[in-house]
Amino acid sequence: MLLREVRPWGGPAADVLLRDGVIAEIRPHAAGAGGQRSQVDTVDGAGRLLVPALVDAHVHLDSNRLGLPFREHTAGTADAPATLAQLIGNDRAHWREDPPVAERAATAIGLALARGCTRFRSYAQVDTDCRLERLEGVLAAAQQFAGRAEVTVIAFPQAGVITDPGVADLLAAALQAGAGIIGGIDPCGLDRDPAGQLDVVFSLAQRHQVPVDIHLHERGTLGAFSMELIAERTKSLGMAGQVTISHAFALGASNDDATVGRLVELLTDNDIAVATVAPAGTGTLPLRRLTDAGVRVGLGQDGMRDYWSPYGDADLLDRTWQLAFTQNYRADALIDYALAVASIGGRSVLDPQAPRLGGVHDRPGLAVGDPAELLVIDGDSVTAAVMDRSGDRTVLHRGRVVADGLALVGRRYRTGH
Ligand SMILES: [Zn+2]
Repeated sequence: MLLREVRPWGGPAADVLLRDGVIAEIRPHAAGAGGQRSQVDTVDGAGRLLVPALVDAHVHLDSNRLGLPFREHTAGTADAPATLAQLIGNDRAHWREDPPVAERAATAIGLALARGCTRFRSYAQVDTDCRLERLEGVLAAAQQFAGRAEVTVIAFPQAGVITDPGVADLLAAALQAGAGIIGGIDPCGLDRDPAGQLDVVFSLAQRHQVPVDIHLHERGTLGAFSMELIAERTKSLGMAGQVTISHAFALGASNDDATVGRLVELLTDNDIAVATVAPAGTGTLPLRRLTDAGVRVGLGQDGMRDYWSPYGDADLLDRTWQLAFTQNYRADALIDYALAVASIGGRSVLDPQAPRLGGVHDRPGLAVGDPAELLVIDGDSVTAAVMDRSGDRTVLHRGRVVADGLALVGRRYRTGH
């Protein structure tokens, strides 16, 4: 496959040859050089940008309601925002009213893939109400997209582990059934037994040899305490590189600078990754500080138009804009960096061996030998593409075109003949 006349990270036009799912050759674009066009499939870049494909490092494919009629938010009111317990209860009361999880998850994967996201790390709620039904739905949707997108599924105890007796056994069953990661959530705030929850989660990780991903909404000293407990277990079990903390609000403005510095050190010492959904307010991450320290950080859409929130539209580029906006970025280098976090950053969360962002000016991911997970998109510059989010996109997974013009394409896509 030849990508003709594309601009890697907004640089000079190049012709990029893909072979066996990786970038095989990059050479300056030669106008009219058609000698190889009879032998290889060609995508006409037409001067568009080339960036690494987006990676959703934190998404709840099992709860999304994309494509369904819009529904009023019924957890909490304008004057009394919902508590976590009310959000969980609202979801539990209504999720069966929607089409099957497999159908909804497939809709979301298709929409996101068509917009440039080829890899997903998705939660599937596991509790005593839904048991493995949601997990099986997300796994079925992932199977439907095998060869076109990669989906790793997290067995996620959304309603707690200790407060919902029986969940530990269901989590073990979920890992047997195909979940690739074990999740946890607010071990203090939700379970009120941090050691109890984390010991269950980490022992399942050890027994099934899977990574850990903890949703941590806890702020201030409570969140810092939970992060310390997670780091302790990561260290004592030799799980460096295998643990992610999602949200990690304790790294935001709810803690003082010295505490945040100490927490960043815990993350680097134990190679613990962070996944963010780019919130505003005190949960906003010190993004540059984290990547400057070598922490792997990825971006995700979180829930999309579900019982928790009306936000989310399956376009990770919109969320990239939100990341730049909530970080108050204006300089082009910083907005380009936000896109690097959404692509290469996410990849490094999924794979600790993958290259990681060394800082705001680092743009890895498009060298010879890098995986041909790519997004070709119209835009004057990378920053312009984040601002305008053109629909003129071509998406490649393992060196093959899987979507074009925001629509999925068949496996035998060919142009240039
Ligand atoms: Zn989440």
